[in-house]
Amino acid sequence: MSEDKDREQYGVLLYYNYAEIPDLNHLLTFYHSNCSSLNLRGRVRLSTHGVNVTVGGNLSSLESHIEALKAYNSLFHRTDFKLGTCHHPLNDKVAQECGFTSLSIRIVDELVTLSSQPLLKAPDISNAGRHLSALDFHSSLHNANNENPENGLVLLDARNMYETRIGKFHVPNVETLDPQVRQYSDLSSWIDDNGDRLKGKNIFMYCTGGIRCEMASAYIKSKGAGFENVFQLFGGIQRYLEQFPDGGFFKGKNFVFDHRISVGSSDANVMGTCLMCQCSFDDYTSRCRCTYCRMLVLVCRSCESESTVYVCELCQKQGKAESAQLIEIGESKTSLSGAEFNNFCSDLPRVPRGDGKIQGPQEN
Ligand SMILES: [Zn+2]
Ligand SMILES: [Zn+2]
Repeated sequence: MSEDKDREQYGVLLYYNYAEIPDLNHLLTFYHSNCSSLNLRGRVRLSTHGVNVTVGGNLSSLESHIEALKAYNSLFHRTDFKLGTCHHPLNDKVAQECGFTSLSIRIVDELVTLSSQPLLKAPDISNAGRHLSALDFHSSLHNANNENPENGLVLLDARNMYETRIGKFHVPNVETLDPQVRQYSDLSSWIDDNGDRLKGKNIFMYCTGGIRCEMASAYIKSKGAGFENVFQLFGGIQRYLEQFPDGGFFKGKNFVFDHRISVGSSDANVMGTCLMCQCSFDDYTSRCRCTYCRMLVLVCRSCESESTVYVCELCQKQGKAESAQLIEIGESKTSLSGAEFNNFCSDLPRVPRGDGKIQGPQEN
């Protein structure tokens, strides 16, 4: 056995907390000294509105980090700390893409970027959708399914297309709206364009860990009459799968922004399909990306060995498929032009633009 018994158990910790931070510079100093002394790697984003953190390290160090936060300020007493054990990063490439080879601590204006354009009216986070526990979320879906097909309930997946490809909520008689956006900052314009599908409904939102729904649900509610009944899954799919290890109404795998890549349930059904041959496939470990927009794509092993040019579903819709053959072979798999993982805020990734630049003001 090559496994070192003395090697401490590795873990990943995710949390966010919307709260007014009284002294941001003091908190910054705290994070620098605490994370460095515990040898944590990953990403910490701090703003006057709160914190958004994804870090990896030894499990005991992550537990010490949580204790130190609680001792630091009472505002962390009510934080939902999502701590999971996992294997060490599989290889350097995955670790690097996930941002787990270094520690990045920054002060930012916004914890998540809802829109790449300045919004006329920024949503008020205190007006976010009502939190539902995994159990309450589940039983509402269960009742909607059983009692009344015309229940006025609609599910809204607040994640990006490469995430929803491999798993999402499926409830008989309940529609799941999948905006199929490349990045979170495209979601607000999808909401603007699809108001008629949301208006008057009980809108049940979910995302990976919860933070994306905070801002997006507040944005929906800011639209006023007909958009009052917005609910969000507290703790996201992550907490839901802990509550329902068989997956419950969630089918497939939960895409995550750390080196685990995805987390499944005991139900091994594969929801994704290979972009090229349409076979059942949901494994992103080879990190294949669209030649045009660099979004992750699903390409099975045998198709991967036959082609290096991939055109994602969205670029195909935009008519880029025809010219795909012109791209030089070999380009698409070797250049990692700033993966999601280098630029995410906890569960918020930002995908590079076609020109390789990263969207989002705090990264530039
Ligand atoms: Zn294939
Ligand atoms: Zn594309």
